[in-house]
Amino acid sequence: MKWCMNINKLAEITGGIAYNCSGDEIVKNVVRDDREVSDGTVFVALKGENNNGHRFVQRAVNNGAACCVVDKEEGSFGNLPVVAVDDTFKALRDIAAFYREQFNIPVVGITGSVGKTSTKGMIASVLGNEYVTLKTEGNYNNEVGVPLTIFRLTDNDEAAVIEMGMSAFGEISRLSKIVKPDTAVITNIGISHMEHLGSQEGICKAKFEILDGLSIDGTIILNGDDEFLWEKNGELDYETLYYGIENKSCDVVATDIKLYSCGSEFNVKIDGVDYKFETNAPGIHHIYNALAAILVGYRYNLKVESMIKGVHDFVPEGLRQVKTNYPKFTVINDCYNACPDSMGSGLDVLVLTAEENGGNSRKVACLADMLELGETSEQEHYKVGLMCAEKGIDCLITIGDMAGNIAKGAIDGGINSSDVYEFGDNESAISRLGGIIKNNDVIWIKGSRGMHLEKVAEALDKM
Ligand code: ATP
Ligand code: MG
Repeated sequence: MKWCMNINKLAEITGGIAYNCSGDEIVKNVVRDDREVSDGTVFVALKGENNNGHRFVQRAVNNGAACCVVDKEEGSFGNLPVVAVDDTFKALRDIAAFYREQFNIPVVGITGSVGKTSTKGMIASVLGNEYVTLKTEGNYNNEVGVPLTIFRLTDNDEAAVIEMGMSAFGEISRLSKIVKPDTAVITNIGISHMEHLGSQEGICKAKFEILDGLSIDGTIILNGDDEFLWEKNGELDYETLYYGIENKSCDVVATDIKLYSCGSEFNVKIDGVDYKFETNAPGIHHIYNALAAILVGYRYNLKVESMIKGVHDFVPEGLRQVKTNYPKFTVINDCYNACPDSMGSGLDVLVLTAEENGGNSRKVACLADMLELGETSEQEHYKVGLMCAEKGIDCLITIGDMAGNIAKGAIDGGINSSDVYEFGDNESAISRLGGIIKNNDVIWIKGSRGMHLEKVAEALDKM
């Protein structure tokens, strides 16, 4: 652990005032959960909607905390060692930014509307073949998760891959200034968080805040099939590399694509030589993520074999297209999250899986609300319904008020209304599943995290 800071330094970095300590005590590690405190740890008290970390200051000190970073508005903490600051969230970021400075290693920062976690995994899988690579755990991509990820860096790490998420302007800028990537990846400009950002132009602007922390000699890697990202071609003051499938002018292009229900194959020309890649993650979106990872590998002069192996070995993280074959039917559990930008490729995986089942499987889509879409919500749900019809879905189950628009779109698109089932909530859908699901069905489950579709998956598991 690369900690060489005492409490006085901590106070200086955070603009705080230290109380009840000499200031010379060396601190080791920073946590926000008092149960993770050990001797010499700094406990940062964060006040959230449900929990106020300031209630645990005493317990953190009892557990060995060198000091606690507290909001000065929370009053005094008796004789406990504290550093009082204006804003403990900002203090967490400030300490992380300082800590990050001590590592002179390749750092890849990733943002984009969709595919960040998957792309992070793919990049780490590639880099991991030549460097000991730290990556964001799960979805720790916000203003708390990113600092906590940075604190996980140790002398052992030779590279890092950090995911950055946002829902408003300014967030990616703040995160990027902590992460200080030397490679920035933007996966795409979709329509999630339209509510806060107004338009896709706004979303694009917010994602490009990643440049605020990019090192001067950094590289930016962009999806060239995304029109908003391609527009930036030639306009950025950084080395810019593009990947794509449709857009043949990109630096790397996937060709000869073969999609299977359990993965895909494709070719990529690197320095004039054609290489064959295979991935075990299904759907064309994972080819995009692989291309981003290949460009990252290229940027750091990795061997092509490391790229091929990394792309091959990548495994998607929890509840993202997890396929389970039950005796009577197959379930593709994709209920981690949903937004319009991830529906098309998910539907393709459903279609492919059903086709590979021998052709007598029904393609059943169980879709819930996609949240946070703002004014375009009804229309976007309706479009997903049309897409279901276009891709030949046999049976549609919708859950939630907004998802009713998916049902409408599907019927308007030509799916027989007797094959479309609309429910207000999970419970009513679950109570009817027995009558809807037939032998051999392939069922794809997808909805926003807040819709808790895992309950439907659990019900299917018990059927
Ligand atoms: P979050 O905003 O929740 O952090 P994310 O950007 O990290 O999301 P993932 O968790 O990687 O995105 O993927 C979310 C969903 O989108 C999954 O269902 C996944 O299969 C699909 N997906 C992954 N990569 C892409 C991509 N490049 N384009 C479109 N969809 C993708
Ligand atoms: Mg994510």
